[in-house]
Formats: sequence, structure tokens, C-alpha cells
Amino acid sequence: MRVVLIGPRGSGKTTIGALLAEAMGYRFCDTDAMVEAAEGMSIPAIFAERGESAFRTAETAAIRSLPPDGVVAATGGGAVLSGGNVQALRAGSLTVFLDADAAVLAARTYRSTRPPLTGLSHTEEVIAVRNARLPLYRGAADFCIDTGALSHAEAVSRIQAFVKERESGAACRALVAFLQQTRMDRNEWEMTGERLCRVEGMPLHGLFAVIGSPCLHSRSPELFTALFAACGVDGVYTRIDWPDLGAIMAAVRAAGVKGLSVTIPFKSDVMQYCDEITADACAIGAVNTMVRCGDGWTGANTDWTGIRQPLAGTPPGDAVVFGAGGAARAAVYALQDLGMAVTVLNRSPDRARSIARSFGCEYGAHDAYNPERTDVIVNATPVGMEGRGGSLLAAGDLRAHHTVFDLVYTPPETLLLRNARAVGCRCIRGTEMFVYQAQEQMRLFTGIGADADMIREILG
Ligand code: NAP
Repeated sequence: MRVVLIGPRGSGKTTIGALLAEAMGYRFCDTDAMVEAAEGMSIPAIFAERGESAFRTAETAAIRSLPPDGVVAATGGGAVLSGGNVQALRAGSLTVFLDADAAVLAARTYRSTRPPLTGLSHTEEVIAVRNARLPLYRGAADFCIDTGALSHAEAVSRIQAFVKERESGAACRALVAFLQQTRMDRNEWEMTGERLCRVEGMPLHGLFAVIGSPCLHSRSPELFTALFAACGVDGVYTRIDWPDLGAIMAAVRAAGVKGLSVTIPFKSDVMQYCDEITADACAIGAVNTMVRCGDGWTGANTDWTGIRQPLAGTPPGDAVVFGAGGAARAAVYALQDLGMAVTVLNRSPDRARSIARSFGCEYGAHDAYNPERTDVIVNATPVGMEGRGGSLLAAGDLRAHHTVFDLVYTPPETLLLRNARAVGCRCIRGTEMFVYQAQEQMRLFTGIGADADMIREILG
């Protein structure tokens, strides 16, 4: 096994790494020192003479040459910027994120000879770089420690205790006991139990779950199980279908669960369990992804990314969103981020007005729809779903210049999309939202980016 330390400059990776290696009887490797030895020059000289990209290439080579076993490795602050680096670092390793408050990091690195990464002042750079990389560190880490609050010896003993806990697997057994009382059928929890509580302890990279009521039919367990296998993540992803959110959160905390996908009806209620919520999730008013780092949960929203990504590159214009629920809020946020002027049209105009107030956009009832003043249409209602059928817009309501994104994904080709195709519109299926929200969730859960095509292939 390897222990890999990640984190910003000044978080103590080299000092704590050397002490940890000594305590565990492991060898210590520092990828920055490996780069300097391989290139025959200091890191400031590599940056000055060959540029940052040459340094990153050398860093990736150093990471790939780390021994697979019996090593504690300290990495450079930017190692996590590449999903490929994270995948290589995590293979067969426990990854520990060493963090500290930005003021502590700035004080520790004030006299550093490391090259600056931005044109900002030292303190501003420390804050900006740490904030930008936090989601990557948190995703890539199996365990997180605040070294600002601990002595080096305490940090070492915390990491050793974590390694032992992961080897014991006791926390997994507690989660299986909880799963037995949920709606999971006996076969499934027995299989999950076997995967969770292996004889040699807990999976190296921990436990993940989708939580909801109901969520028995969620495709996330199938998707993430395949993605973890393809990306070398030794994690188990299960489902927790149970109506009592408080009981779920107590169980996942006790079991040390690393990441949660959150679905109906918990997307706003889980916010009370988050220690930090991203600005996007706050603006949308919903959290669909939770990542635990140390004792704290960070709440994020990847639904809006799932809507924004397939529309990226669409010229700014007039967009209409049908619906005024959670999916519509994510759609309005994504469309505004793309520079669109948005109008929300809903069956009950009162709900449309409430969204319009939050986001400062136009609103109305369905009959306010004007095809000539529309460029992009997003259907965020269930109309068109399997079993219900129908479409809010007929072919006569559509124009060839429209982009039509139907968030309904069962069936993949809805009546609305069939109508839009007949007229010559650009069409985007609801499955694309699922693909891109899952891609972002994978990055937040593991620090590893999964290819969209791989996700499409897994989903079939
Ligand atoms: P929600 O909070 O229940 O909101 C549903 C909205 O649709 C409400 O504004 C509702 O209007 C409207 N609506 C319902 N039935 C209607 C009908 N027969 N005619 C006209 N409007 C109707 O649901 P949500 O979470 O926002 O999800 C909406 C849809 O988005 C889901 O059904 C799903 O198909 C899709 N979705 C897709 C993904 C994906 O990954 N592709 C993810 C999430 C959601 P009222 O306000 O008048 O009740």
C-alpha cells in the first residue's frame, strides 16, 4: 500500500510525509524533489527557462514512476490539476489531503522560493489558488486533515489511525446493518454487504451512495460501479432508499461514507447537513452532490452543469424554460450563465413568478410562448415521460432555428424531440443532462474526470 499526501504549498506534506514514512517503516518520496533530480535543475529554474507546462510534464512522469508499495509520497500543490495524475496517484493508495487556513498557508510560504502562479500578491495568490483547487483536493482525498490545528506528530498519528480504521472494515458493517432496514431487497443488501465488508477491510477509496425516497430505480449505482472499475477507484457505490433523512445522515456519517448523490425529495433538506455549500448550489437552492472531507460535508449542485455542458457554445439569445420546479431552477441558472435572456413559463404562473424573482428573469403562463422570440427551449416538466406521453409544443410551435433540450430522459426520444427533429431544430436529449451531471459528480467524488463517451456507453 502507498500513502499519498496532496494539498497546497505550505500544508506540511514534505515534513509530515517524512515523519509518517519513518513511523510506518515506509520509504519517503517527494515528487518535486524527483522532478528536480530528473531535470537537473531547481523548480524555479524549470518554470523560468521552460515554463509551467514543462514542469507539469515532468511532474506527471515522476508520479507515474512512484513505487506501488511501501511508500509515503508527497506531491506538488498542482498535482491534482490533472485527472490522469490523480488516477495514477490513487491506484493502490490511500490519499490524504493536508490543508490549512489560507492565512496559515500564506505565513508558512512567505519566504518560499517556489515560483508564483498568478500576478496576484502573495496572500491573494494563496487564497485564490487554494479556493480553486479545493474541490479537486477534496475529491481526490480519502482522508483530510487541517495541519493548521495540529502538531506534526499529531498529524502523523491521525493518518496512522485512519489507515488502521480502513483496514478494520468496522464502519462498513455498521452501514450494512442500516441498509438491512431500508427498502433494499435481501439479495441486494447481501451482495452489497459482501462488497462493502471484505475480509481485508473497507474498500481503499471508501463508500458512496445515492440517497432518496424512492431511489430504487436510480441508475447511479450501475454507472458509478462501472466508472470506478474503469478508473481504478477501489470504492463501493450503493443506494439508500429510505424516507428518514436524519437517520440516513447519521448512518453515513458513522460509516465514513465519502460521497452522496442526492435525489428526490432531499435536494433542499440536505442543505442543513452541509458544512459548506458551493455558490452555485446556494443560488439554485438545491444540493444533489455531497462530498465528505474530514468531518465536514460540502454540498454542490451538478444538475446545472448537466444542462450547461450540452448547450455550451450556443450563441446567447432568448431562452424559454417550461416548468418551475427544481430542474427548472438549475436550467435558468445554466442558461443565464451562458448569457441567455430567460423566460420561465409554467402551468401555475405563481411558481414561475417565484423563480423569476430569485433569478431576475421574465415569467408567464404557457400561452405567453412566442416562437419567433425564442432561440432555446428547455422542457423541465415531466410532460413526455414514459407512461404519460404528450408534448407541450406541437411541430407548428417550433422553428428550424430553435435548440430544443428535453430534460425528460425516459424515453430518450420524446414526442417533443420528434416534433422538433421534424422541423429541423437542434435537439438535445435528457440523457445528456444525466451524462454531464454524472461526469461532474465523478470529478467531485474522486478527483478523476471520466470521459462523456464512456458514461454514454455504460448507460447504453
Ligand atoms: P418538479 O419539481 O416536480 O417540477 C415539475 C414542474 O413541471 C412543475 O413546475 C409543474 O408545474 C410542471 N408540470 C407537471 N406536470 C405538468 C403538466 N402536465 N403540464 C404542464 N406542466 C406540468 O420536478 P423537477 O424535479 O423540476 O423535474 C422536472 C422534470 O425534469 C422531471 O420530470 C424529469 O423528467 C426531468 N429531470 C431530468 C433530469 C435528467 O438528468 N435528465 C434530472 C432532473 C429532472 P406546476 O408548478 O404547475 O405544478
